[in-house]
Amino acid sequence: MKIKEAVFAISNTDHKKCPDGNLPEYAFIGRSNVGKSSLINMLTEQKKLAKTSGKPGKTQLINHFLINQEWYIVDLPGYGYAKVSKSAREKFEKFISDYLTKREQLLNVFVLLDSRLEPQQIDLEFMNWCGQKEIPFAMVFTKIDKLSSSALQKNMAKYKKEMMKYWEELPPVFTTSSESGFGREKLLNYIENINLAVKNG
Ligand code: GDP
Repeated sequence: MKIKEAVFAISNTDHKKCPDGNLPEYAFIGRSNVGKSSLINMLTEQKKLAKTSGKPGKTQLINHFLINQEWYIVDLPGYGYAKVSKSAREKFEKFISDYLTKREQLLNVFVLLDSRLEPQQIDLEFMNWCGQKEIPFAMVFTKIDKLSSSALQKNMAKYKKEMMKYWEELPPVFTTSSESGFGREKLLNYIENINLAVKNG
């Protein structure tokens, strides 16, 4: 898919105030610092569309970016950041979970995982929660330029093993580098195919 246009649409903390209409939405979520802003900028080929985190946990908003006037990238707040107070965390978890469970236009959640790390409890819990709520999601391993391909395979295998404890099959898996642009085509094609399937009913 060619990205001809990517523009900021709206930020808020209420799924009811998200854009009207029925354009498909694809949400991106992960722990703070996982590389979410960098990935959104890489996908859209813009330097500053999503704000890379100076202070993690600061921008706790649902951000909509309109792509090609046809679909939205939705940038969700990073979860599990320890410095956010518990009550603030509960509040943002509620508005994120409201968005994820109630937003009919949401077609897929990309769960970002730092490819350098061993499986993280909070990520596994979040993916299990998505599964229980029947929210379609895909796993996206970020920053793959930062490790060797054998280390990457090893970490991915560990995630797979953990996931298979709970699920019969794995969700789609992507590997990306915002440094090199690796994974861009595959991820955008995945979105394009869902958009086409929806359009053709
Ligand atoms: P966010 O908090 O999830 O939005 O993460 P950011 O996009 O702000 O990235 C966090 C840090 O990781 C920044 O210093 C980025 O430059 C770095 N980073 C993000 N993606 C990549 C990547 O693919 N490769 C490398 N080498 N660094 C990355």
